Amino acid sequence: MNLRVGIIGGGIAGLVAGYELSKVGARVTILEREQRLGGLASSFALTPQAEVERYYHFICKPDRAYLDMIHGLGLASRLRWRTTKMGLFYNGGMHTIGDPLSLFRFPHFSFGDKLRFVWSTATVKFSSSKSWKPLENISAEQWLVQCYGRRAYDILYASLLNLKFRAHASRISAAWMWARFHRLGNSRTITQKECLGYLEGGTQLFISVLEQVLHRQGAAVYTDATVERVVVDDGRVIGMQCNGEYLSFDCVLSTVPVPKFLELVASADGPYFDNLRRLEYIDVLVMVLRLRHFFSPYFWMNISDPRIDLAGIIEYTNLNPSVGGEAILYVPQYLSSSHPFYSMVEEDLFRLYCEYLQTINPAFRSNWVQGYWVHRDRFAQPICNIDFSRCIPSIQTPVAGLYMTDSCQLHPHDRTVSGSIELGRKAAGLIMSWWRDQ
Ligand SMILES: Cc1cc2nc3c(=O)[nH]c(=O)nc-3n(C[C@H](O)[C@H](O)[C@H](O)COP(=O)(O)OP(=O)(O)OC[C@H]3O[C@@H](n4cnc5c(N)ncnc54)[C@H](O)[C@@H]3O)c2cc1C
Repeated sequence: MNLRVGIIGGGIAGLVAGYELSKVGARVTILEREQRLGGLASSFALTPQAEVERYYHFICKPDRAYLDMIHGLGLASRLRWRTTKMGLFYNGGMHTIGDPLSLFRFPHFSFGDKLRFVWSTATVKFSSSKSWKPLENISAEQWLVQCYGRRAYDILYASLLNLKFRAHASRISAAWMWARFHRLGNSRTITQKECLGYLEGGTQLFISVLEQVLHRQGAAVYTDATVERVVVDDGRVIGMQCNGEYLSFDCVLSTVPVPKFLELVASADGPYFDNLRRLEYIDVLVMVLRLRHFFSPYFWMNISDPRIDLAGIIEYTNLNPSVGGEAILYVPQYLSSSHPFYSMVEEDLFRLYCEYLQTINPAFRSNWVQGYWVHRDRFAQPICNIDFSRCIPSIQTPVAGLYMTDSCQLHPHDRTVSGSIELGRKAAGLIMSWWRDQ
């Protein structure tokens, strides 16, 4: 087949689209701006021997597209499942909250709150995958208060929503929140213990194997390749400018977040592009700390404390202990790049986070830290407001031969590796049927 496809971005969606298209004989070129493939799911060297994701990554049982590809690529023997514990730092103390038994021991809920929590959680878990539809036009806060009650909302969810979405928190759609609960709820054991997955070798293993298959299928994959412009002539895409050089293509697929895509097609106009210009995102800043000692028994610790500007911390080694022995802690913050923390000097950020960590675990000392790294990404999380379904852009753009994926197209589902695999596959399918019609 003579179809020449240029793919912008070597993250999961770009690699999977390239895999599907090169499998059926298209001539695929993937252009990735960074030195490494993987995008938000990429890894970095923690030590000369060990790599870990820049951002914590776990797999849930409903992540079908990811699990199918893990099997298809022959990686099933590297997949591990583990029961993990969830903690909540509230009122100056850490509490286990992830399973029904520990919830019944939680001293800050009344008996009624506990029964309501179990009932609401089970209702979401066992409801059909379409049950989010009636929740489209109400806010996450309204729905959470309706289901769990005001006290449970204030203790468990208020700071989570406010610190994840900040100025956007009050407008986040209940459908988005429902889908998040549904995914996690269906990743529990029969006794309702949280059970999460990971790949031994991390997400990097998946990415490396995918890259090898892409090479075998004849795809060209370039890193350090920044696309500066998509070139359109007479309403049809004809190529791209990358690192100052013009490259000719029949079809272009962008997998970068919408605001970056808009920079590449700056002169595009019409309702489709006007809608894209209205979409909103939040940026992410994550510090990864390598510790000499375990910090806690929890994988995920939610934080509900006015002294601490964090929604939660993740002790990744309590899910994946194979990363190199020590404890690996992720401290994430979702915020706008204009927030002072986003550009704070790393040493100052480290000192601030050490104070937070010591508030949570008074035994913690900064000399436990063997190393720390800071990762940042713009537009890491789309903001899915009330009624967001009406704003979801299609993968096919009005420009002939130009396609675009973005994790907002997964709504009501949150962005995941599995979701990006689905988007990459869908985009490849649309491109193939467009090409057949040419
Ligand atoms: C903090 C955090 C935690 C997460 N945890 C999980 C988790 O536990 N489980 C899970 O399944 N998912 C998780 N995710 C989500 C998951 O990582 C993403 O959904 C997925 O990796 C997105 O892939 P993508 O290919 O759609 O986009 P991206 O990863 O954004 O890929 C876009 C690529 O385009 C490149 N690019 C940008 N501009 C240009 C340009 N001009 N030219 C060329 N290339 C360009 C970028 O460098 C990037 O590689 C997490 C994400 C974050 C931020």
